[in-house]
Amino acid sequence: MKRIIVTGGAGFLGSNLIKRLLIDNNEIICIDNLYTSSITNIKPFLDCDNFTFINHNVIEPYDFECDEIYNLACPASPVHYQKDPIFTVKTCFLGILNALEIAKKYNAKILQASTSEVYGDPIVSPQNESYRGNVNMIGIRSCYDEGKRIAETLLMDYHREYNTKIKIMRIFNTYGPNMDKDDGRVISNFVTQALLNRNITIYGQGKQTRSFCFVDDLIDGMIKLMNTKDDVTGPINIGNPDEFTIEYLSKLVISLIDTSSRIVYMPLPQDDPVQRRPDITLAKQILNYEPRINLYDGLLRTIDYFRGIL
Ligand code: NAD
Ligand code: UDP
Repeated sequence: MKRIIVTGGAGFLGSNLIKRLLIDNNEIICIDNLYTSSITNIKPFLDCDNFTFINHNVIEPYDFECDEIYNLACPASPVHYQKDPIFTVKTCFLGILNALEIAKKYNAKILQASTSEVYGDPIVSPQNESYRGNVNMIGIRSCYDEGKRIAETLLMDYHREYNTKIKIMRIFNTYGPNMDKDDGRVISNFVTQALLNRNITIYGQGKQTRSFCFVDDLIDGMIKLMNTKDDVTGPINIGNPDEFTIEYLSKLVISLIDTSSRIVYMPLPQDDPVQRRPDITLAKQILNYEPRINLYDGLLRTIDYFRGIL
């Protein structure tokens, strides 16, 4: 049995990860201050002997002996991370600094939930790990994009200085059960809007693209990366390379839900990336990773989830 810290464990990805880690009979310490989540996602685990919830802000140091750390704590949707950008920067930097200190002290492996946002508004497609990106360092997305970039820097420096066992995972847009219905991300917005017969809000003309990964596939990749040998540090892209326009996504959601919703067009937010698609060659080679759930099937499962909670 491994003792594993999951920061941000009450959130969307964290709660899906913990579910899998508990099935595999690990002991979990979930650290979260419920900034963008509630106890709801982790309620099913609270009675479990192998699960401990610590309500704590990762900006402040903490100390628990462990074998592994998954560092997921960070507001992740544009609406959430722009609400208090200074908090976001602090969480990105001090959060990973505090986690790295624990990894160093206990010789634990640490996996960082980095992001495709490190590529900014990419001018190459698909994006592979050697692409250095096109990030605006002073815009409204910068608190998150640059926060995640400096976190990667710090991980590599701990690895070079102290031989800390690090894994950098660059996560591309992920969706599925346990997403917060109000976090403003495109799939949670479109699905809840359609289920509630409200207008479906396309920002801009809807010609921008994203590549959507179902959460089960993403968690597979995450655990595989954590279980690699110590010489595998990443960064490694994990996602689903099937690329769709936002307009296509809106039509697909409408076709899957019996709804009277109509599409409305709203202003495109500043610095909204025009295209995004992961090159997952490295993940295939190193992790034998292959996403299995296509957008159609993943959306059906996500719609079921939101139908249940609305
Ligand atoms: P989420 O908002 O659902 O979960 C984040 C969790 O972190 C929440 O429970 C929140 O309360 C907690 N948190 C935030 N700041 C904290 C702090 N200072 N101290 C303690 N807890 C804090 O988001 P998610 O989609 O589950 O994302 C998890 C991680 O994966 C994030 O680091 C995010 O940047 C990364 N990521 C996610 C996606 C995606 O598509 N979901 C894509 C790229 C990267
Ligand atoms: N988007 C949209 N309508 C919405 C929410 C988002 O058209 O109600 C667009 C958004 O402008 C972006 C894409 O969908 O181009 C993905 O947005 P999301 O916030 O999910 O993720 P990110 O921009 O971080 O990839």
